Amino acid sequence: MLPLSSRRAFALKYRPRFFSDLIGQDLAVRILTNSILQKMLGPPLLLTGTRGIGKTTLARLFARALNCPSQDKNSGEPCGTCALCQEILEDRHLDVIEMDAASHTGVEEIRGILEACQYKPVACLYKVYIIDEVHMLSKSAFNALLKTLEEPPLHVQFIFATTEIDRVPETVLSRCLRLDLRPVDTELLAQYLAGIAQKENLKIAPAALMLLARAAHGSVRDALSLLECASYLGRDTLNVQDMHALLGLSDETRLEALVVACLQGDCPAALRLFREMRAVGAVAREVLEEMLNAIHTMTCFRLKTPLIEEMLFSETVLVRLKTLAEDLSVPTLARLWSLFSKGFDEVVASPCPELSAEMVFVRTCYTAPLPDLHTLLQNESEATPEKEERLQQQQTSESLLSQHITTLFPGAAPG
Ligand SMILES: [Zn+2]
Repeated sequence: MLPLSSRRAFALKYRPRFFSDLIGQDLAVRILTNSILQKMLGPPLLLTGTRGIGKTTLARLFARALNCPSQDKNSGEPCGTCALCQEILEDRHLDVIEMDAASHTGVEEIRGILEACQYKPVACLYKVYIIDEVHMLSKSAFNALLKTLEEPPLHVQFIFATTEIDRVPETVLSRCLRLDLRPVDTELLAQYLAGIAQKENLKIAPAALMLLARAAHGSVRDALSLLECASYLGRDTLNVQDMHALLGLSDETRLEALVVACLQGDCPAALRLFREMRAVGAVAREVLEEMLNAIHTMTCFRLKTPLIEEMLFSETVLVRLKTLAEDLSVPTLARLWSLFSKGFDEVVASPCPELSAEMVFVRTCYTAPLPDLHTLLQNESEATPEKEERLQQQQTSESLLSQHITTLFPGAAPG
């Protein structure tokens, strides 16, 4: 094993050095490399996407490709070995300036940049300003930027990155070339992790990699740091159970029992199972996310549509979910989905997520087993004397109630 000081974090060690190292952002990469090759530079770039998706990595790569004297004339890739490439890569080149707008929100910082950008670059062709979290700039800072964004000096390239595009003013948006970075597809991310695991001599089951990739929610950085965490577990071969423990996921047998309890409306069983899961380390939002995955999987089975991700569950659990799905109607599955997805939002926003999750299970147990609207209407159309009588009783009591309300609150219209 390497001494601690020489072991670098995976996210740093495997930070993409070339465009070809970047995964899942083909469109953005193609636009950027073409703009370099065709020398169509100028408009400020605005990179958007969730955190950890590779915005600043792409910005730095672009800064290198733009300035590298031995850049590849076909692919637009920087050489990666010249002094400029090295210095920019190590974040110590004077002409590539990075600023985090989250900690420099004021107009003074922007004025400083605007003044400095009038001077020619020291060694590069272009002075590159990378402003991260640009949405955090103050209104006056944005206003100060506008004129320069309209006509930036020829030797300057601005690159903005943001996680919250809605907070960037329209006036700035309209002056930028906007590139949206997409969350990386789970299977692609799992393949990528498999490659890294091999380089690190880490043995890990494909299904376990899939769980890691799923937990990273499309972020390469998060996926790498999860894999790094897993590497510290010190096991010969990492399996699905290890990942459950690491990610706070519930074990599959309990999850499947929980699905059954919700479908049967067995509230005490559902709560008991959820508490058992928590006792062994499962986290409320992860449990709900897995419930959503299970419901989606069952719906695919019911509709005989291929699954989006084959490896979310083990073969045994997939067979059980398939059997369960055969007895369920699509409207019931759709209702389950909306109950849990609304519940998921509540749990995420709740100050006490575990309690909130319990209430989601209670609500589901009381609502999920009810017949769906289609069945109700079908039953309703088969009129019987008992039904007629019940309907009449209901109408009488409703009209009595409405009379009562009018007497009590003369101004109020019942309804
Ligand atoms: Zn170079």
